[in-house]
Amino acid sequence: MSPFYGSAAIGPGQQPDYVNAVAQIDTTLSPQALLTALQLVEQQQGRERGPERWLPRTLDLDILLYGDQVVNQPHLHIPHPRMCERNFVLLPLQDLAPDLVLPDGRRVRDLAQDCDRNGIWPLADASR
Ligand code: ADP
Ligand code: MG
Repeated sequence: MSPFYGSAAIGPGQQPDYVNAVAQIDTTLSPQALLTALQLVEQQQGRERGPERWLPRTLDLDILLYGDQVVNQPHLHIPHPRMCERNFVLLPLQDLAPDLVLPDGRRVRDLAQDCDRNGIWPLADASR
């Protein structure tokens, strides 16, 4: 589990800040079954899905990577298509796995080095 970061919301209107983190897990679930399981956890935490994206949410669990696998299915894209442009993904991912190499050959440390540091800050870690 990475440390937690706070980040300013991107999206329409005034929204509260987010808390972000990255976790590494071992699983026997397929990518699709893992997505279904994560969506169940989101639901259990009171997430409501509407037609509009990028609204405030209680919990958003995304699959960033699944080993070296590349998945392109209608409802599942791995690596997560927007992970490399999001500082709130790259900074905690770098804390967890700086030497990780993406399927396209890019290294997490290099991607994180180049990312924007605005609108993100480390949080005191309540989990340790
Ligand atoms: P966000 O893109 O902000 O995470 P949602 O959580 O509402 O928005 O996700 C919208 C849809 O994105 C999900 O219903 C899911 O089918 C799809 N999706 C595609 N690839 C992924 C992935 N790698 N991880 C999680 N969801 C994904
Ligand atoms: Mg999501």
